[in-house]
Amino acid sequence: MEFALDRAAVRGAVEKLQYRTQAFIDGAFCPALSGETLPSVNPANGKLIADIAACDAADVDRAVMAARVSFESGVWAGVKPSQRKSVLLAFADLLEQHALELALLDCLEAGKPITETATLDIPDTIDCIRWHAELADKLYERVAPTGPENVALIVREPIGVVGLITPWNFPAQMAAWKIGPALAAGNSVVLKPAELTSMSALRMAELAFEAGVPAGVFNVVPGYGPTAGRALGLHMDVDMVAFTGSAEVGREVLRYAADSNLKRVILELGGKSPQVVLADAPDLDVVAENAVSAAFWNMGENCSCGSRLIVHRSIKDALLERIKAVVSTWTMGDPLDPETKLGPMVEPDHLAKVLGYIEAGRAQGARVVLGGGRTLEETGGNFVAVTIFDEATNDMSIAAEEIFGPVLTVIPVDSDEEAVAVANDTRYGLAASLYTNDVGKAHRFARQLRAGTVSVNCFAEGDITTPFGGFKESGFFGRDKSMWAQQQYTELKTIWIQVD
Ligand code: NAD
Repeated sequence: MEFALDRAAVRGAVEKLQYRTQAFIDGAFCPALSGETLPSVNPANGKLIADIAACDAADVDRAVMAARVSFESGVWAGVKPSQRKSVLLAFADLLEQHALELALLDCLEAGKPITETATLDIPDTIDCIRWHAELADKLYERVAPTGPENVALIVREPIGVVGLITPWNFPAQMAAWKIGPALAAGNSVVLKPAELTSMSALRMAELAFEAGVPAGVFNVVPGYGPTAGRALGLHMDVDMVAFTGSAEVGREVLRYAADSNLKRVILELGGKSPQVVLADAPDLDVVAENAVSAAFWNMGENCSCGSRLIVHRSIKDALLERIKAVVSTWTMGDPLDPETKLGPMVEPDHLAKVLGYIEAGRAQGARVVLGGGRTLEETGGNFVAVTIFDEATNDMSIAAEEIFGPVLTVIPVDSDEEAVAVANDTRYGLAASLYTNDVGKAHRFARQLRAGTVSVNCFAEGDITTPFGGFKESGFFGRDKSMWAQQQYTELKTIWIQVD
């Protein structure tokens, strides 16, 4: 992507932004049938950005019908995979041309620093669409080893109409992780973005249409979860729902499937990821850099946030000093400022939730060694100071529950075995990091940690080539990214042919 990220350029680009605020159904923008809207508010200053169509069951019906008609017509599902590839590559090119615009939309609505959305979220979004486009015409099917009197083909076919429900913390990127593989596999989709962050998804659908994705194949219905999301989950003509969000709502989505047509469901949910630092960890300066990214990147509003630091007591204080030094270099403030590393919490209710956890940590006896409250109140934004609790235990709510804010809980341990046991003592299992100098321990403990992604001597979620998803209550069947993601948007079919 070619654009300068200086303050003047960013301000200039914001002034030129045009907001897409209506649903995108069957290749056109349209208001909610009820005429209702919901406010999109900038979390950095509390000001209204735009009023967005608040879709309900009637709009979802229209979008699902458009998706069904497009699917059955074969206009997308029935074309050569190489043709889908070409169109999706053109879509990725358009996303790239509009990268700054998309980065600004996610920055304004979610309070994410522009440097992050412009250099991480949107490049990853584009890469994801390109990668799945390229995969579309490279997957072969199988012939079963039957006797000579039969030929049995084992083929994969698109599932049909797929509902996508996404969260607000990586708006464009989480949408891309689902749209890319679902469209490449030939499905038609109805996307319900989080009500706090609708606009990048709406713009992506418009750009996909411009690139040649046929009308009805990619629809977006903005709206509230309990109305638009629920209607999608319960819809009898939706064949699958792919959901990313909280475990609580994930359970609802499973119930919707059980209460309707047993649609396929995949869930990508929350986490309480451990960062395990053994006594022989290499270079504590490097560990500190990684630990800060793991805990505070995206203000901790990150499903794989390394919110539990499980560290050998012998090195804990030395590591904590280094962590505090790194945090002091992370500037909190206006997300539109390219110098900003930390923005606000996404909305006032979420701010209150995070502050509630900080109070609970204090009350339960953990020691605040950094931050511990609200900050930058004069901005009108929902800012929380980076907060570190020391001397916590794994049963405290700050260690057991997903806070989704810039709060790190430090749990000292006295042995490697205790470290791994504490790390696994959680209902979640999305990600884990492990720091050790011993290659044997690295392999052994990486296998023992019960998480979908384990990073060793770094904090990482892999890249587009690797699957991402959770063990335990962090997920249900699904994986985003990689060829495994594309496969899950298909049904397996056996074609048994009598030859003689
Ligand atoms: P959320 O569960 O509140 O909302 C997610 C989506 O579900 C939104 O679009 C929302 O409108 C919709 N929704 C809410 N109530 C609904 C209902 N009753 N029926 C149907 N849909 C409903 O989650 P959030 O606050 O937007 O996102 C934060 C959560 O997402 C965290 O738990 C985080 O860990 C998780 N997350 C997971 C991953 C992953 O890959 N595992 C990635 C990002 C975020």
